[in-house]
Amino acid sequence: MKKSLLLTLTVLSSASLSWSEIKMVGAQGTLEKGNQRFAGGKSIAHAWQKGNVAKTGALGQTPSVAVLTCSDSRTPAELIFDMGVGDLFVCRNAGGFDTPEVNATFEYGVAALGVHTILVLGHTKCGAVTATLEGKPVPGNISLLTKALQPGIKKIHQEHSDLSKEDQLNHAVEALIRYQMLEVIQNSELLQKAKADGKLQVMGAVYDVETGRVRFLN
Ligand SMILES: [Zn+2]
Repeated sequence: MKKSLLLTLTVLSSASLSWSEIKMVGAQGTLEKGNQRFAGGKSIAHAWQKGNVAKTGALGQTPSVAVLTCSDSRTPAELIFDMGVGDLFVCRNAGGFDTPEVNATFEYGVAALGVHTILVLGHTKCGAVTATLEGKPVPGNISLLTKALQPGIKKIHQEHSDLSKEDQLNHAVEALIRYQMLEVIQNSELLQKAKADGKLQVMGAVYDVETGRVRFLN
């Protein structure tokens, strides 16, 4: 009994229940190192994490980084950054864009779980962004996606009319990330305050689906 209480207190007193401790200062570097392990074939996080499953299962989660990314099956955030159970608080939809539900999820992450960083992670060859750029009619509810993505990339055709479709897409992916970085904060008073108080930072990055490498936007 005493021993288990001591163990609980020891775990609770540690800064994080996560598999990988990601501090606010240096968060980008920690994520970059994880991505270097992944892209270099040296991932360490994805064995059975018995200890961390037990720890987070019993005591709860304290993720440090929330990720907004695409549902694309090639962009699994935990794999890309070589992170483990309890590390990332992830919202995904096709294109990776803010919605009231995504925004509320991030508010919960920041207010209740201790998230200090929101990363908007776009990716190359994004089908949702491609469809939005092409502007062709789409069936069913898929138009909800292209309508949501449109404001973030509406000037791409005008500003980059001289470029190839592939280059236009790359510009659109980056423009969308920057747009969503602003949207996530602008749509939430709670997140605005956390950012103003220095308790929250927002980052953007592009994941290259051909190389497995992430490039952070400055
Ligand atoms: Zn995508």
